[in-house]
Order: sequence, then C-alpha cells, then structure tokens
Amino acid sequence: MTDPAASLESLPLRDDLRGMSPYGAPQLEVEVALNTNENTHPVPPEVVEAITQRVHDCASSLNRYPDRDFTALRGALARYLGHGLDEDNVWAANGSNEILQQILQAFGGPGRSVLSFVPTYSMYPLLALGTGTEFIAGERAADFTLTAESAAEQVRSHAPDIVFLCSPNNPTGTALGLNVVEAVYEAGRDSDTVVVVDEAYAEFARFGTPSALTLLDGRPRLIVSRTMSKAFALAGARLGYFAAAREVADAMRLVRLPYHLSSVTQATALAALEHHQTLLATVEDVKMQRDRIVDELKRMGLTPAESDSNFVFFDCGGDAHAMWQALLDRGVLVRDVGIPGHLRVTAGTEAETTAFLDAVESFLAR
Ligand SMILES: *Cc1c(COP(=O)(O)O)cnc(C)c1O
Repeated sequence: MTDPAASLESLPLRDDLRGMSPYGAPQLEVEVALNTNENTHPVPPEVVEAITQRVHDCASSLNRYPDRDFTALRGALARYLGHGLDEDNVWAANGSNEILQQILQAFGGPGRSVLSFVPTYSMYPLLALGTGTEFIAGERAADFTLTAESAAEQVRSHAPDIVFLCSPNNPTGTALGLNVVEAVYEAGRDSDTVVVVDEAYAEFARFGTPSALTLLDGRPRLIVSRTMSKAFALAGARLGYFAAAREVADAMRLVRLPYHLSSVTQATALAALEHHQTLLATVEDVKMQRDRIVDELKRMGLTPAESDSNFVFFDCGGDAHAMWQALLDRGVLVRDVGIPGHLRVTAGTEAETTAFLDAVESFLAR
C-alpha cells in the first residue's frame, strides 16, 4: 500500500485540503481502551430493551422520511436540560461534531473566522477547514488555564465571527468559570461574535460547577452544545444537541441536510432520554474513578490536572511516547494528544482504572 496522503496528491482536491490529515484517534483492538473518552460501561439491559422496542416500532415506517424537525426529540431534550428551555430553543444533529459543523456553516465560512484557545478539542480546526472558516489559535497560560481578562482581550483583538469555548476543556479536563464565558460574550459585542460553549462533558463536572445554560437568558449570541456520546454512554448512536435562542435553532434549517436525523436515531435518542436516570447512573462511578486516577497519579509523583470530565490529563514526568507504548504493551490504550510530556486517560470502570494505574506504576518502577 502506498502512503494514503501521497496518493491523495493525485486528486484534484481543494488547495486548502492538500497535505492535511483526517481525525485519527487509533481504533485498536485492546483489552482496556481508554483513549476516546467514551463511557466504558455498556448500555444497561433495561435501556437496550427500550431502544429495541422503539426502533422496532418505527421499522415498518422506514419507507418514509423521518420527522424533519424531530419535534418530539427536541421537546424531550428541552425537558432533560431544564432551565426553562422549550423545544424551539433546542437543535440536534448526528453528534455534537455535526452541531459544530452546522454552526460553522451558518455563522462561519469563507472570509470568516473562528477563535478557540489551544490546546483544545482537535476537531475544531478540522471543522473550520472543512467549512472554509479561518481558524485562529488563541492562547492559554503555561498551565493551560484561561482567565476572563486574557480571553476577552484576545476576542477584542481578533474580532472573530465565532468563538469555541470548550468547558470542561478537552484535552486538559478543567471547566471554565462562567465569568470567562460572560467576559467573552461581552468582548464579542461589537463584532457580533457567536459564542459556543462545548459542554460535551458537563455531566461529569465537580460539584458546584455551573453550566453555561444558566447564562442563555438574554444572550442571543450564546450557544451551549451537549452530546449523548459521553455521560449517556451512547457514542455509537451519534446524537449531539444545543440550546440557544430560538432564532439560532431556526437558522440551522438553512444549512442542515434535509432529514439529517434518521428515524432510527430519533427513536434511539427518545428511548435513551426516557431512561436517562438509568443511563446516567454510571456517572458517579466514573467520577469516583477519575478522582482516584488524580489522587493515585499524584501519589506516584506525577502531575495531573484537576478534572471536571471523565478523563485526566497528566504530566508524565518524561517521555510521553515511551509511557504510551509501555501502557499499550500491557493492553492499556491511552491518548497521546501531541503535547510533549503529557498523556490523557479516560476514567473507565474500576477494573480498567486499576489496569491503567498498575501499568503506570510498573512503567515508573522499571
Ligand atoms: C467527545 C467530544 C465531543 C463529542 O462529539 P460527538 O460528535 O457528539 O460524539 C464534542 N466536543 C468535545 C470537546 C469532545 O471531547
């Protein structure tokens, strides 16, 4: 096989796609996969039953297009979120990646820009690229934190069309204070900047960490995005959603593909929402394992970041690639996010967490 990137060179690709690499978290067959921040607990049997029933009920109507406006699902998502939201405030798509792409299609595009603060979610620049939006890499402090003053100053100086704030931030794990969101929103007033808070991990936040949903009232340029891929343990179902002013949700109709949410996806998500308490019951276990990882890594002399998510980002005190390989040799796959000396690990079940911690300890003792 020739190098795939090289063979693409023979195609009449768009100039801005030449030489680019696709998103590529390895999908390896390993015993303990802790590299993509899934909820590693399987879907509980009661929820499997409910999803099966709902999908069964819609199967004979698959000859027809789905409800284009997925009204029942939007209502169920609004009720789950609370905060006085109703179905008009909610929009959904095939994963929050598609949500972010639609936001870029509507508010970004050629001649426009999106600002985010790196290191952050690696898909932001790729989604910007795909939609022809300029990606501006904003800065964080050396310890990866972001203050309201610094964020607002960068928004004022770049005047981007869109800002992506990832909170809790992937890959570093820590949530932003709402003061940062408020300051960024204010700083974007003159440039009419749309502010997106990506709360993919919100359900895992430490006690007392408020959601940006509490800021939506009176802020028509604010969008809060969520997903069923993480806490809901439904990454395979592909369902992301956002809450915003109803005009913002309406605007998405201009860019979405008709019938983008299949009947099967809508049925699956509705069943999952009906059983959200059962699905979210594993969140407390995952948080416990996350806190255990932070405590244990500190005990081993390493430096993990505080985490409001289901993963831990840590300074491994040396060669990150050597540790990554040693863990893989023991059947534990974690994520090398390309930040020198650092790795990211998903908090899994108790047994998976133990396998990870044992592998780290034996690597350090080598
Ligand atoms: C995992 C993740 C998502 C979720 O993507 P889906 O398309 O919903 O699976 C979104 N944002 C961030 C920061 C993530 O880490």
